[in-house]
Amino acid sequence: MKQYRFVVDYDCNFTEMIGSIRHLKEYNADKKGILQIFEPDCDTESIQKDLDFLTSALPKLKVIGMTGHGALSRETHSIPYRVCTILFFDKSDFNINVYDCTDVSPLEAGDQYKKALATMSDIKGILMMSSDFALCPERFIDKINEYDSSLVVFGALAGTPTMGDDRSKIFVGNKIYERAILAVAFCGKDLHLSHHYNLGFRPLGKELVVTNSNDTGIVYEIDNKPAFDIYREHLGVGMNNYFFENTSSFPLFLKENGNPLARVALDYHEDGALAFATEIPVGSSVSLSYSTADIMLDEASACALRLDDFVPEAVLIYVCMARRMLMGDNLAELEFEFYENVCPTATWGHGYGEILHADGLRGFLNASCVVIGMREGERPDEKDRVRRAPNQKFLKEYLDNYQIGFVPLPVRLVNFLESTTRDLRAAVDQLFAEATVDPLTGLYNRRALDHYMKKFIEQLGQYNGIAVMIIDIDHFKNVNDTYGHDVGDLVLKTGCEAVKYVYNQNDIIGRWGGEEFVGIKPNITQEEAMDFCETLRKNVEKMEFEVVGHITVSMGLTMIRADDTSESVFKRIDEALYEAKETGRNKVVFK
Ligand code: GH3
Ligand code: MG
Ligand code: MG
Repeated sequence: MKQYRFVVDYDCNFTEMIGSIRHLKEYNADKKGILQIFEPDCDTESIQKDLDFLTSALPKLKVIGMTGHGALSRETHSIPYRVCTILFFDKSDFNINVYDCTDVSPLEAGDQYKKALATMSDIKGILMMSSDFALCPERFIDKINEYDSSLVVFGALAGTPTMGDDRSKIFVGNKIYERAILAVAFCGKDLHLSHHYNLGFRPLGKELVVTNSNDTGIVYEIDNKPAFDIYREHLGVGMNNYFFENTSSFPLFLKENGNPLARVALDYHEDGALAFATEIPVGSSVSLSYSTADIMLDEASACALRLDDFVPEAVLIYVCMARRMLMGDNLAELEFEFYENVCPTATWGHGYGEILHADGLRGFLNASCVVIGMREGERPDEKDRVRRAPNQKFLKEYLDNYQIGFVPLPVRLVNFLESTTRDLRAAVDQLFAEATVDPLTGLYNRRALDHYMKKFIEQLGQYNGIAVMIIDIDHFKNVNDTYGHDVGDLVLKTGCEAVKYVYNQNDIIGRWGGEEFVGIKPNITQEEAMDFCETLRKNVEKMEFEVVGHITVSMGLTMIRADDTSESVFKRIDEALYEAKETGRNKVVFK
């Protein structure tokens, strides 16, 4: 395959581009070709005029496109160029489907597309363009996922230069759609696709939980407080016209199937709700996040290296304007150059959101960079290929050039925040350990046992049985009376050291008080739990303690039941232990 790129009004004007394409050998050899346009302007009349001209001058090319860039805020300039790319295929093919969503919902369109996909073979990836975020594409992508969850979907949401004024458009051939979803399925036995996702944003400060939200992207409350408070409290931002400028570089950070994800708030309501382009479900853990140019460029250079391993013949990039806002023009260009080094015809487009459905990502992304490599045929031999990716030295040289030893104030502040967050998290971890660990034995304390017991009871359904046992040393008072308290302490300590190894990683073992211990063992049957306790009891009996010699323990055992509370569980093991003591000690009783 072969890719060409034309940045209109930069490399050439529109008419010159058409002239160049007519002379391309692939065009004249009737290779299947698709032209993707990212259009900076939203004026229907001028787009229509150009599309009419283009499609009649280049009848052999399929044309798709969308209005792009979207200056994210008053402070951001737009990219004024029309960015066009052509992909010519030798053997592979593509199918274009477009759904006018003025009267069809994304879900209905998705259902129709599912049927269309069933008629295609060897689908290797789907490029998707969708109108502005008012038409959330995830429902459409869910349908593709239903058809074949391994299909990679990538692309972007169309945009408008000014926020809140949706004039975004999608086009196919010379037809312009005001509200549509476009899907191009690339198919072919020899076609290979490699997808990459860069975010660069990192969580900052403490984790909060979304406590009230709806499925259209409105988040009413975070940590039971108006959602807006997260920005007011942490960034000192007010409800005014600069909301977007003030918050878009600090998106909410969350995880989707282990993937880091950013969600940029689009707007706020007077009551403190925040509006996002897609749902953030109740229960999601979120925090504010930040990034710096260094982090983004580091990630981009690593991504370019991976892309280079794939040896792409074409590269399509869908990237958020927020990154340009954060990095500044020069470094944003540098990010792009990394990919251009791998594939000189690499083409980018700025949308109002990126799309990637792959590796557990559902589809809709913010503040990210999605990179797609394409190749027809096998990867060339290592010895036949030229490595083009930037190396780390190249990156460092660039960064040094840009920074010349002077660290910009925001970067210094972020470094300060990062180190403070690190210190605070370490302090919190230590406090947590101190609050939950018994100092003599190093096991969990009663407070932690109580906490985990409640958690296990809540999550009982997720386990195949949970056993709870109490272990009490027999006649321990005699040990203290005979040998002194210090020797008693040593018995407790060495005994616990030896015993804790019989428990698994998922088990909880702690000191309930004095010389009594409680163990919680998930995924175990009653018989297995009884065997476990018997073995433990016998092992203690066999242990040889310094000075004291042998000791024995009595144990009470039970299985957590559906209607249990932590009080009822502790009551049963206590009763079982009492019976073990009453009926001779050195035994296990189940209740
Ligand atoms: P049994 O359980 O068999 O009925 O007899 P026992 O002598 O062990 O009686 P009980 O469990 O009621 O008494 C617990 C004794 O354990 C009381 C106290 O002397 C001792 N003990 C409790 N905590 C500690 C501790 O931290 N260190 C030491 N050395 N002894 C402790
Ligand atoms: Mg006791
Ligand atoms: Mg005892």
